[in-house]
Amino acid sequence: MIGAPRRTTRQVTIGRGAKAVRVGGDAPVSVQSMTTTPTADTEATLRQIAELTAAGCQIVRVAVPSQDDADALPVIAAKSPIPVIADIHFQPRYVFAAIDAGCGAVRVNPGNIKRFDDKVKEIAAAAGAAEVPIRIGVNAGSLHPALLAKYGKATPEALVESALWECSLFEEHGFRDLKISVKHHDPLVTVDAYRLLASRCDYPLHLGVTEAGPALQGTVKSATAFAILLADGIGDTIRASLSAPPVEEVKVGNQILASLGLRPRQLEIVSCPSCGRAQVDVYRLTEQVAAAFDGFPYPLRVAVMGCVVNGPGEAREADLGVSSGNGKGQIFVRGKVVRTVPESQIVEALLEEGVRLGETASAR
Ligand code: SF4
Repeated sequence: MIGAPRRTTRQVTIGRGAKAVRVGGDAPVSVQSMTTTPTADTEATLRQIAELTAAGCQIVRVAVPSQDDADALPVIAAKSPIPVIADIHFQPRYVFAAIDAGCGAVRVNPGNIKRFDDKVKEIAAAAGAAEVPIRIGVNAGSLHPALLAKYGKATPEALVESALWECSLFEEHGFRDLKISVKHHDPLVTVDAYRLLASRCDYPLHLGVTEAGPALQGTVKSATAFAILLADGIGDTIRASLSAPPVEEVKVGNQILASLGLRPRQLEIVSCPSCGRAQVDVYRLTEQVAAAFDGFPYPLRVAVMGCVVNGPGEAREADLGVSSGNGKGQIFVRGKVVRTVPESQIVEALLEEGVRLGETASAR
């Protein structure tokens, strides 16, 4: 576990019954993602939600830009194994539809519907009666023109002022079941914005670096910002926004939390970077081992070492591993070589030993 104690926040509950996920307060940080299917395509959306859930997603957001999407919400909310947040931008009637459909929360920025002043009051009343939290999501790219004019650009102050103003529109009606995000594409601006926001309110915060980019860049940006903020105790849910399939976002999010000690360790591959001593194609072998152990149910640390020089010794903290040489692989368990196999059988042998270790540990 890293850093400061978790920031003290209000707590909201997304979803009901067995699906409920508590956010903020003493609840663990949870991982979120967003579907990419047209929400109106109920079957495809539920299939993707099932994939995300299997990958470790705990809360899923779906876009609701049309009436057809709103019409699909009751089935999706009922059949999804995890709470569904309906993402609505301009249409108050979709907000009511999402609440009636049993969605776990609704993302809506009341500033977008301010001209229907009474609608904010009605949304607050409906969400309050149904105990459905509202997520206020401010993004640098969609900042109100007045704030852009005041601050010149999407500064942390501008993002926070926008978020707190959006919150105030609900607070006017006594509604405080809110969760907030203030996303920027620059991780350092994101960090400053969340730090400022955390000092100004006690709402739970959803962390995200918006438009973070393709998988590698987005992963690095998200991990950088989240690690700094979570080390400060700031952040209650996270989404690693990537220009990549949403399952990758979930894997990255879980990996970040596990790396920070905020989530029990999952399967971890420890592989050497390779060097002139390597006697095997370390990159290829590592990919093969990672693929073979994908979805492995036991939280083992598996080492892939390119030579015997630094093999079992350097990886002695791994549960099991392989060090390669002369077309063979020495399979070791907790630093001790247990068998030697031809290179072509390394992956299979590791998997066998992994299952044996995992089953022994879980039988205890
Ligand atoms: Fe090089 Fe061997 Fe170390 Fe891998 S384990 S980096 S091949 S010395």
